[in-house]
Amino acid sequence: MDSVRHSRLNLDSMLHADYEVQEVWTADSVYRVPLAAIDSVSFAISYFSCPDSHHPRAIDLGLPSGTKWACCNVGATTPERYGGYYAWGETGEKTSYYESNYGYYNTSTGYADIGSDIAGTSLIIAPFSSI
Ligand SMILES: [Zn+2]
Repeated sequence: MDSVRHSRLNLDSMLHADYEVQEVWTADSVYRVPLAAIDSVSFAISYFSCPDSHHPRAIDLGLPSGTKWACCNVGATTPERYGGYYAWGETGEKTSYYESNYGYYNTSTGYADIGSDIAGTSLIIAPFSSI
């Protein structure tokens, strides 16, 4: 398992105001579970927990790539907080998501192809080196 996320897109890819789905990302799949179907969630003490309250901290998850993870979402001051909300490829926070306010959408030409792998580019909000 690479990460667990929440999404405002339901299983039919309809955008909602509230979170609808939990996503479990693995190396080759994404498992999407409606939040309404989840009865409980428990947390285990992790070897990767922050040792103190100085956040954000680089966490080594032992990934084969050597990539380190931040302990907090971008814009969050603790690991438990949500942080900011961003659109794909944009670096500024936003509260609404429409074609009209998306930086890579043009009413004449449609969506710009910024690629599906933007890691290490200027389109990333917080490259690891800034942590
Ligand atoms: Zn931390």
